[in-house]
Amino acid sequence: MYANVIVDITHEQLDRVFQYLIPSSMHVEAGSQVLVPFGRGNRKIRGYVIECTKQAEWDPTKIKEILEVYPLQRTVETQLIQLAAWMKRCYGSTMIQALKTVLPMQKTVKPIEKKYYVLNRKEDALAALEEAKRKRWKARVRLLEALLESELLPADLALQRLNVTSVVAKPLEAKGILSIVTETTYRNPLHSISLEQKKIQLNEDQSKIVSSICNAFDRGERTPSYIHGITGSGKTEVYMEIIAHVLNQNRQVIVLIPEIALTYQTVMRFYRRFGNQISILNSRLSPGERFDQMERARKGEINVMIGPRSALFTPFARLGLIVIDEEHEAAYKSEYSPKYHARETAIERARLCDGMVIMGSATPSVEAYYKAQMGSYRLYRLKKRAIDKSHLADVSIVDLREELKQGNRSIFSRQLKEMIKERLEKKEQILLFLNRRGYSGFVSCRSCGKSIGCPHCDVSLTAHRNGTLVCHYCGYSIPMPQKCPFCGSPYIAGFGLGTQKVEALAAQEFPNAKLLRMDLDTTSKKNGHQEILEQFASGEADILIGTQMIVKGHDFPNVTLVGILAADLSLYSGDYRSAERTFQLLTQAAGRAGRGKKPGNVIIQTYSPTHYSILTAKEQDYEQFYEQEMTYRTMLQYPPKGYMMELLITSDNEIEAENTIHGYAALIQNEYNGTIKVIGPTNALVGKIKDTYRKVLYLKSLKEALLIEAKDRIEQHYHRSFPNGKLRIQFDFYQ
Ligand code: ADP
Ligand code: ZN
Ligand code: ZN
Repeated sequence: MYANVIVDITHEQLDRVFQYLIPSSMHVEAGSQVLVPFGRGNRKIRGYVIECTKQAEWDPTKIKEILEVYPLQRTVETQLIQLAAWMKRCYGSTMIQALKTVLPMQKTVKPIEKKYYVLNRKEDALAALEEAKRKRWKARVRLLEALLESELLPADLALQRLNVTSVVAKPLEAKGILSIVTETTYRNPLHSISLEQKKIQLNEDQSKIVSSICNAFDRGERTPSYIHGITGSGKTEVYMEIIAHVLNQNRQVIVLIPEIALTYQTVMRFYRRFGNQISILNSRLSPGERFDQMERARKGEINVMIGPRSALFTPFARLGLIVIDEEHEAAYKSEYSPKYHARETAIERARLCDGMVIMGSATPSVEAYYKAQMGSYRLYRLKKRAIDKSHLADVSIVDLREELKQGNRSIFSRQLKEMIKERLEKKEQILLFLNRRGYSGFVSCRSCGKSIGCPHCDVSLTAHRNGTLVCHYCGYSIPMPQKCPFCGSPYIAGFGLGTQKVEALAAQEFPNAKLLRMDLDTTSKKNGHQEILEQFASGEADILIGTQMIVKGHDFPNVTLVGILAADLSLYSGDYRSAERTFQLLTQAAGRAGRGKKPGNVIIQTYSPTHYSILTAKEQDYEQFYEQEMTYRTMLQYPPKGYMMELLITSDNEIEAENTIHGYAALIQNEYNGTIKVIGPTNALVGKIKDTYRKVLYLKSLKEALLIEAKDRIEQHYHRSFPNGKLRIQFDFYQ
């Protein structure tokens, strides 16, 4: 046996792998630290084993032997290498790809001094705020409001989240309203704030969950916990209480929050509670800043890391807890190889360090909820909003087919128009949500609402430019019909609606309303997203129009109406998860109305008013949705009832790609006759990117182990046949 060893555990050096012979008496595994002879002079140095293999990569007589293996200490490096090995095995990638995902990128950066803005006198700040408001100094207003709320603000956070630079802070410092201090001059900046005073008294339901989970933690039980609680039920407070408990035991904590929900408000809640023990990762950090945060974590200077998916690999040596908020979010799944899911990977990481995982959501992913039902997770519920006065909104469904019959061709139904006018008069705010999630050019009938599905896969067909409708799982295709095959109506078409179009139509319909639009165009500049939300929150517009970005994690107390323009767009995305996504989005959108004291209304406009995902979203009834969804998944053996793997082959040479994928389809068909179902092969949803052809094959099985075995076989065959070829394979497990 040979061991592949890396001697320098930094990102740039990871491609430099050295092979050594494992003496027959020695036991090493991925993650073992070893002493090896290195270079011409056989200098003795330490390295980490990343992989053991039977395959000698060059002349076996020239491969040197490992000198010594150290007892397997669970250093954080060892754990992360073991995690990478697990990811390689379960998700199919190279070890190097997996290591690059889990190990922090080395960058030499000069240590940055952390700067803070600290409020001096409240009265002065209030006066300054009045003045700034009068003079419309927006950035200054944002800074002062934030400081009045929290008394202290890390400068980097002010920049990232409020778009406030030191240019804004300097004049205020000169007037003595705030002080700008650095960490070195002000060692424990959050000390002055009386944290206790801001602590919320948990209600009975919250307390029960906290004590149950903390007791389990103390007993050494490590079953993951799932908190299924409606939005605003106080899940975050529960996490924070448990985090405090874990920190008290000298363990460290990772909190995963999807980037889009990682708002300034959320981050400040954690700051107020845990002070400078916390740090934040987000995509706006430069690689240097990122590495710096990871180093602080490795040295134990911080104990809580908050961030999106990649924060999972924070090198905490005493990691005790991983929290995954908004567990259902698609962003928890990596789009790069290894295409890992943060939920499963967090559970494995926690296992390696004797830690615990807590997840939470108002709309759990069907996969996770199924596991909770099967007893793999402890399931907890929070059914009430934590603040008494806020109520769930009143949701109604408008049938767009009926509108068409009545001659209303506008994108606004009569009911929605009326309600918008009424809210405008009352000076209350409105969200118009265009559901474009997973929109892939499906075709449906505006008269009867039906869409054309694949007879083999029970998902919607997708319109292609060449005038055909295609199933993106199995490749089934038919010519685009001119008339609805169900009712004969000629009103059959794709939805061509974009946010800009909606804005223009809204401007026509409501000429006196002030509109704001939030989509990729308007948010592409730095902080655009946050700025638009702030503008809307401060009442600068009456109607906010946008895609799914507007429905996540922001509180607008003055919003009393949410209009969902075409709920169907996500329903027919040609994917077995489309009903789940629709339910999640509609439920979240509905949760945006009536967050304050005024009651809220939600209008769901749809061509499929009887679809279960829409009916259950109206009732905000997750259980009911889950039951129905599981019936469908069970019938077609989609996850979580069955397992599904995607194999993607890409090549410049279409024939080579085509032949290879057919070869693998045949291989699996022969070897696993019946136990693995082969779907396809076909062209990928995007069949060609930059002259590279993309072919996909789906494998379905009731046993996950069989799929992993099939993946290993394909991988081995691939490595034998295309050692340096331009043909590439990629695996994706659906879980
Ligand atoms: P979730 O994370 O479930 O959406 P949060 O923890 O954000 O819910 O709580 C929603 C709101 O209710 C927040 O403003 C929070 O401060 C408040 N809140 C939570 N728990 C309590 C409580 N026990 N008493 C009073 N207010 C609470
Ligand atoms: Zn029809
Ligand atoms: Zn199909």
